[in-house]
Amino acid sequence: MKAMLLDAPGAALRLADIAIPEPGPKQVRVKVAACGVCRTDLHVADGDLTDPKLPIVPGHEIVGRVDKTGPGVIRFAIGQRVGIPWLGHTCGSCRYCRDGRENLCDHPGFTGYQIDGGYAEYAVVDADYCFPLPEGLGDVEAAPLLCAGLIGYRTLRMAGPVKTLGIYGFGAAAHIVAQVARHQGMEAYAFTRPGDTAAQVFACELGCVWAGGSDERPPQPLDAALVFAPVGGLVPLALEAVRKGGVVVLGGIHMSEIPAMPYALLWEERVIRSVANLTRRDAEEFLALAPRVPVRTHTTALPLAKANEALDRLRRGELTGALVLVP
Ligand SMILES: [Zn+2]
Ligand SMILES: [Zn+2]
Repeated sequence: MKAMLLDAPGAALRLADIAIPEPGPKQVRVKVAACGVCRTDLHVADGDLTDPKLPIVPGHEIVGRVDKTGPGVIRFAIGQRVGIPWLGHTCGSCRYCRDGRENLCDHPGFTGYQIDGGYAEYAVVDADYCFPLPEGLGDVEAAPLLCAGLIGYRTLRMAGPVKTLGIYGFGAAAHIVAQVARHQGMEAYAFTRPGDTAAQVFACELGCVWAGGSDERPPQPLDAALVFAPVGGLVPLALEAVRKGGVVVLGGIHMSEIPAMPYALLWEERVIRSVANLTRRDAEEFLALAPRVPVRTHTTALPLAKANEALDRLRRGELTGALVLVP
């Protein structure tokens, strides 16, 4: 099969012809129909995340159809459409797994990082870590739900029940979260790179009540703010924008250094917290919620062989919505 391989951090992905993988016990093989390109793939390719299997097939927003099942799989039938997210394996026995916080598992495996992912024609995954997908979205359109949607949803949930919500960085995750926030009765305020009027117009089209540059203050204090851009300098700006007791939730897996800041920004019980990975429960909840919103994604499809171009476009921030590779 054709696959895009990362041989070493910092190298370009290489188009390779490799053997079609065989599913083992409790695994399924999926014929990939689409795979979203996530900023985390960029962090893997660039070496910001330091624990990849090498070579690795990146990609953890996989939509495909079950093509072969290994021994012991009863959950899925051949031909069934499934989605495969970042969380690919957990140990099931560490204190976090036992506490229902498997996103923090001590011995996890992540798709497209330690487990070969979806920048390929086929992927083999543990059947317990993939999910039936709702109807209503095509394969390309559904792909961003698997990470931008899932992690975005978990990030939104960590903000708690709020009325006014800031969203810093209006990429793939934010464009989904804005729709969910409006559905849940929140007012969303979008913060983009200063001067990025295209992203600001896009944010308002998706239901945000206000959009401006990250250097601007919102028209009123925010109950909470989500930060999706991997820019540490946004953390003090977001703290400045939230009211007393407000929470700033950091949704990315990697971020540039957070600058020193006066304690006054955190004072009055403001909270900063991060979000790590996802649980399978997040996936079940979000995939049930998405069709009720209904979430519509804005996607640009590229052929699999153009994965490097896709990563470059993401690096340069030159897109609205999400990029998706099609094998
Ligand atoms: Zn565990
Ligand atoms: Zn991701």
